[in-house]
Amino acid sequence: MTLFDAAEFDDHQSVTYGFDRAVGLRAIIAIHDTTLGPALGGCRLWPYGGEDEALSDALRLSRAMTFKHALAGTRQGGGKAVIIADPRVGKTPALLAAFGRLVDSLGGRYITAEDVGTSAEDMAVVVRETRHVAGLAEGSGDPSPVTAFGVFHGIRAAVRHRLGRGDLAGLRIAVQGLGHVGFALCRYLRKAGARLAVADLDPGAVARAVAELDAEPAGTDAIIAAEVDVLAPCARGGVLNAETIPLIRAPIVAGAANNQLADDAAGRLLMSRGILYAPDYAINAGGVINISLEDEGYDRDRALTRTARIYDTLLEIFRRAEAEGLPTGEVADRMARERIAAARGGEPGPDRRD
Ligand code: NAD
Repeated sequence: MTLFDAAEFDDHQSVTYGFDRAVGLRAIIAIHDTTLGPALGGCRLWPYGGEDEALSDALRLSRAMTFKHALAGTRQGGGKAVIIADPRVGKTPALLAAFGRLVDSLGGRYITAEDVGTSAEDMAVVVRETRHVAGLAEGSGDPSPVTAFGVFHGIRAAVRHRLGRGDLAGLRIAVQGLGHVGFALCRYLRKAGARLAVADLDPGAVARAVAELDAEPAGTDAIIAAEVDVLAPCARGGVLNAETIPLIRAPIVAGAANNQLADDAAGRLLMSRGILYAPDYAINAGGVINISLEDEGYDRDRALTRTARIYDTLLEIFRRAEAEGLPTGEVADRMARERIAAARGGEPGPDRRD
């Protein structure tokens, strides 16, 4: 596959290959767009089937980061690194150090962070070679509670738009996945008076939600069809597809999971069924908002204040989607592109001040 002909190529600014035979490093850093600021995106370490697969992933993920930052108003650009290696055996300190030197060679145009296959501990090794690392334990820390806070406000916006209600009291909300984000989200929802149905592969997590939050347990697949007001996927991607969408009874789908739509057709199918979908990268942006604050001195309260603005962003997406008769995901992409185009034209970006 050649770069410029790749299906995922979307005018990426640069793609850097890093290789170090001695330590087994084979890495690709894709910088999609730095109009709004330096490219900030995680480093994924994965046993890719080959170089083409790794390049596709880097191109796709870095572009997604551009859109995510643009909508979240972080003044950061989109980039992503991928390392072709097996996380169980290939992830040595020497490899991580070599990756750190590769990041450093870009002079701050790309800022790395943990992602699938890498951890905060790995980034503590990378940071010895470059200061262009975000999300360290001593920096902004675990983003999950902030992500959950953003999803909570996104659900509020969806309920306001679709159900015309200003509160969640008595609403039934089904949460699939009770991990770092899902459980914290359940706490916010319960506090706001919602009644919860929950599912997780881990029966211990479900038991905890039942005991602590008076939640009703459901099966991991059955929860998709739960008779609720909001379905919140907080486990894995691809959960909204041609098989599952006809089963959904909730008028709203709004959750934290990445890549919820199996494909573009899924977005259109949700719309045709009258289900309001909160685009995943808009509603789950609390984590990137949290990490992006490191460049100005991290403060958790400020992170939460900015994350709460996801409410306004989603309302704008929903209103435009309705007015233009388009799926919400398409409108979110358009809005992100408009913000970048406006910044290129010299207009100030979204206001970051509190
Ligand atoms: P996590 O690994 O802590 O939790 C995921 C949970 O989902 C686990 O408890 C797991 O047992 C459960 N699960 C897996 N498959 C399931 C299934 N089929 N049915 C029900 N439960 C299932 O992950 P997390 O950090 O809570 O993230 C959840 C989702 O949100 C992921 O898609 C992640 O990419 C996305 N996300 C997370 C953040 C963040 O700040 N952590 C930010 C943005 C997006």
